[in-house]
Amino acid sequence: MKKFNVGIIGATGMVGQRFISLLENHPWFKICCLSASSNSAGKIYKDVVKNRWNIDISIDKSVENMIVLDGVKDKEKIACLCDFVFCAVDMPKQDIIKLEEDYAKLECPVISNNSANRRVSDIPMIIPEVNSDHIDVIKYQRIRLGTKKGFIAVKSNCSLQSYVPVLKALSSFGLKDVAVCTYQAISGAGKTFETFPDIVDNIIPFIPGEEEKSENEPLKIFGYLDKDKGIIISSSKPNITTQCLRVPVSDGHMAAVFVKFDNKPDLKQVRNLINNFENIPESLGLPSSALKSLYLLDDPYRPQPKLDKNFDCGMGITIGRLREDTQYHIKFVSLSHNTVRGAAGGAIMLAELAVAKGYIKL
Ligand code: NAP
Repeated sequence: MKKFNVGIIGATGMVGQRFISLLENHPWFKICCLSASSNSAGKIYKDVVKNRWNIDISIDKSVENMIVLDGVKDKEKIACLCDFVFCAVDMPKQDIIKLEEDYAKLECPVISNNSANRRVSDIPMIIPEVNSDHIDVIKYQRIRLGTKKGFIAVKSNCSLQSYVPVLKALSSFGLKDVAVCTYQAISGAGKTFETFPDIVDNIIPFIPGEEEKSENEPLKIFGYLDKDKGIIISSSKPNITTQCLRVPVSDGHMAAVFVKFDNKPDLKQVRNLINNFENIPESLGLPSSALKSLYLLDDPYRPQPKLDKNFDCGMGITIGRLREDTQYHIKFVSLSHNTVRGAAGGAIMLAELAVAKGYIKL
């Protein structure tokens, strides 16, 4: 199979580095260009990341000597070279909205990690296990943008990747109220222990914007495509309240979740639904799919970021401490790797979905 030529915008960052490591030997995609800010542009990739390569395997030899392009100034050139791009940049929101639209209008599809476009109602925000059908809103987005090939699709915030699929698995009992406390790793802020000394032996109880995203994004994901309006209509349920904390962990976001249903299930039913949750990415043959959608662990000391973040190549979602609750109906703890499943890996699987559904073509 001829591979798709792929560009990475924000290739020097925490998520960009993860894209490079996950795309090495990808069966469908081949990196053809790397870009970042004007500070890095014109330099050799391996030199730019020399003191900040944060992945435990070395840089893919086939990209380490690439000259970094400027993701903004070189966009015509990048759009011309690539069949589509992944975008993960740290820029002001309005600049990201413009940048992603510019690429789409240059007929270069954008698979984005950024939050800037997540609320736009004709831009699909997808967790492939949960709402792969939302991809069809691209037809309507293309009419708005006036494009034939170009579009923007986004993955959701990393904090909710571990529990939204569990909620979906249990949704037949009617999701009513959900309370979540997240314990989020420092790589989610683009940081390491060296660059974030304040987090050592500490917890920081505020992550700007994170609680709003964790409460609102699931409602769009649980929404439906209104084909008359050509937009995704968000669900009004469940009621979700969250608290998001930054903890001294390098990788892996954990969530402690409480759920109340319209019809209370018993624990056996809950276990069955979690264990048998359909693995849509696997049935579509997406190369990055986890072997199993959800892994329910019985050891009360699991999941742990240190032990379980790399479950199923970092794409696995692990769930533990499932039990009944006295105020809600059930409670559990869930974990996912924030820069793999929650960022680059999730975006790669979304791009694979767009290929499988015919929205990205050679
Ligand atoms: P990061 O480590 O700070 O990297 C930011 C990247 O953006 C760098 O490559 C930087 O290039 C590039 N950049 C900055 N200004 C630019 C400009 N004007 N033009 C082109 N490129 C520019 O950030 P990150 O953690 O990778 O996060 C990137 C995005 O992904 C953010 O929107 C973040 O919210 C989202 N995200 C992150 C995570 C996570 O776990 N880290 C998870 C989900 C989503 P230089 O190196 O040249 O400055």
